[in-house]
Amino acid sequence: MSEYWSANVRRLIPYTPGEQPETRDVIKLNTNENPYGPSSRALAAIRAEANENLRLYPNPDGAPLKSAIARFHKLAVSQVFVGNGSDEVLAHSFHGLLKHDDPILFPDITYSFYPVYCALYEIAFDAVPLRADFEIDLDDYVRENGGIILANPNAPTGRALPLCAIETLLARNAGSVVVVDEAYVAFGAESAVNLIDRYDNLLVVQTLSKSHGLAGLRVGFALGNPSLIEALERIKNSFNSYPLDRLAITGAAAAIEDREHFEETRRKVIATRERLISRLEELDFDVLPSAANFVFTTHRTHSAAALAQALRDRAILVRHFDRPRTDNYLRITVGTDDEIDALIDTLGQILA
Ligand code: PMP
Repeated sequence: MSEYWSANVRRLIPYTPGEQPETRDVIKLNTNENPYGPSSRALAAIRAEANENLRLYPNPDGAPLKSAIARFHKLAVSQVFVGNGSDEVLAHSFHGLLKHDDPILFPDITYSFYPVYCALYEIAFDAVPLRADFEIDLDDYVRENGGIILANPNAPTGRALPLCAIETLLARNAGSVVVVDEAYVAFGAESAVNLIDRYDNLLVVQTLSKSHGLAGLRVGFALGNPSLIEALERIKNSFNSYPLDRLAITGAAAAIEDREHFEETRRKVIATRERLISRLEELDFDVLPSAANFVFTTHRTHSAAALAQALRDRAILVRHFDRPRTDNYLRITVGTDDEIDALIDTLGQILA
């Protein structure tokens, strides 16, 4: 703390991202990165763009990327907003669409950045408890609210709501914005994108970080009614005119256009996830159903904290959230088959 800090900064408790170790000699299953990496076409586009033109500012609207996203999702460009990772897109959504007099609603167990944005922008919220099985009960969301944000699939549970549930929520909340954070939707959940033309209170947020193996490029986007998009543009243009650099705009557009790489890698992740779940169950873990590129799991006799530490001692990183209700769970990212084999072998040794 310093006397120079503003009152708001003094109050902030910032988000802590998962560890990014300097060494490559670890099996990294802690931050839900895609083990297969980006499309070679995206890499080639980024290399080609690394030229003297970096002297010039990028397109402030990320126009070529917006067009690629609009084509992919069969939407108009005016229904697309792009930002520096979906974290930035979410931040602008909290600031521009979820800050009202009534508290906003989100689950008590969800992406832990949401309450941080609420603190940053001074937004009141009610954290709605998930059911004991970590499912969202939509009846708990029938009340006055300043907006709702749900991650679908949810993180860190991996559980997904069906599209009909999202539609019910949208219909019941016509007076407020419903943000659906689809960071992990590529791995098995139903996207709400097709509801955009029918519900002008729906904002869908997606990212290339997991689905396209591009966490390092920092590209996320929002899809919704043009008036919601305009709110995000107003915030963005009052904050940073150029959130996406030239390499990110070009690389992300090429990644979105490489549908083959996207389909192939997501299929592989889903297949490995199912294998991981059955191998964990053989080792007496209970595993929540997952529609994401990670699983959320608890062991019947061993504590999650001890297991996370024992794995760490053997150079395998997984995520442990030391919070009420989740402190006996591990969130394990779906890696390559070899990484998952190494994880299972190591867990077998630890548990023996
Ligand atoms: N939403 C959820 C639910 C997440 O887990 C993450 C990743 N931490 C994000 C959004 C942000 O992803 P990014 O900023 O890399 O797009």
